[in-house]
Amino acid sequence: MAPSHPVAILFALQTAAPSLNTVSDTLQISEIPVEGYERVVRGVDPQTGLHAIIAVHDTTLGPALGGLRMWNYASEEDAVFDVLRLAKGMSYKSAVAHTGLGGGKAVMIGDAKTIKSEGLYLAMGRLVESLGGLYTTAEDVNTSIGDLEIVRRATKYVTGLSRDSGGSGNPSPYTAYGVYLGVRAALGWAFDNDDPKGRTIAIQGVGAVGGPLAERLAEAGATVYAADRNQKRLDALTEKHGVKQVKAEEILSMECDLLAPCALGGILNDESIPELRTKVVAGAANNLLLKPEHGKALSERGILYAPDYVINAGGIVNVSVEFHDGGYNEEVALRKIERIPQALKELWTISREEGIPSSDAADRLAQRIIAEARAAKA
Ligand code: NAD
Repeated sequence: MAPSHPVAILFALQTAAPSLNTVSDTLQISEIPVEGYERVVRGVDPQTGLHAIIAVHDTTLGPALGGLRMWNYASEEDAVFDVLRLAKGMSYKSAVAHTGLGGGKAVMIGDAKTIKSEGLYLAMGRLVESLGGLYTTAEDVNTSIGDLEIVRRATKYVTGLSRDSGGSGNPSPYTAYGVYLGVRAALGWAFDNDDPKGRTIAIQGVGAVGGPLAERLAEAGATVYAADRNQKRLDALTEKHGVKQVKAEEILSMECDLLAPCALGGILNDESIPELRTKVVAGAANNLLLKPEHGKALSERGILYAPDYVINAGGIVNVSVEFHDGGYNEEVALRKIERIPQALKELWTISREEGIPSSDAADRLAQRIIAEARAAKA
């Protein structure tokens, strides 16, 4: 059957006869040339079952950093589509957050419940190592710190390990701190007062990021409403911080000053946007807009939007400090995370002055930062 989406077509054309560059044990590494990406490599190891793709989008600003995702993709084309999208997103996120890093991503194809093994992650480590530092990996969906510790035995290009191993540790509290500061900035922009006291905030998902965000906002005097599939998490927040519980299907349409989606991507779409009853959307979840045009749909409704990859950059900023001379330093990380409100204000200013959605302003700013650095290097 003919491939249906554009990347699949490109992929079919360009990989009909993959060049075999490296063979390490039974690991076969081949290039997938993709326009606009510095390197895309496929690693296949029949012995361990590894089938992985690493995409290095851009290293103009520094080595590409991005997590390692394991997902049971229906096809390799789907995996390539996802890894390309995610790698580019990492370039943009790092550019706007001034981490001094480029963007990349890795995906391993397979069911996380059945295929994980030591050999698999060692083979993955060899694939990362084959890029010689162009790409450094980190945690992501279905990849734990324990998995990364195994990868680390085959390559030094691993970040986000535990503090005991000299890494920057769990990124979530840093992401939550950045989102909290971003929420305050958004309140300030929308209401001329950034104090959460007396504001009504609705949070979708109170996990590793949404939970600490709810705590901080409740402590600052906001009335916090939350929905989560995990009843225990909700009950703990209600008991300790008076968080009010809302049904999962009602949280997006409840009347509030600010909606903070901290669970799933793609929730801002044709169905949800007309139903929103908030002045602001500012939350942690990645890829909140189902399609880029949903940024315009939000601004047409007069809703202020904090672009997801700008407000949720606290975790990557924290990890990026591992690359500094002298290694990880929490103080440095916190000072950098505290620049997130300023970045958001710049985007809202561009958005207002140029009449474009803030999501488009973020992409433009990222592209400009990368292009200027490239020109300065030439
Ligand atoms: P998490 O898995 O710890 O928390 C997500 C929570 O959302 C869970 O409690 C889950 O039960 C809940 N949830 C799932 N579906 C839901 C639904 N339909 N309605 C209500 N609640 C639902 O994840 P996290 O680490 O807190 O990340 C949250 C989001 O932020 C994700 O999109 C993630 O990609 C993004 N993000 C996280 C980080 C980080 O450092 N953890 C960094 C950047 C972006």
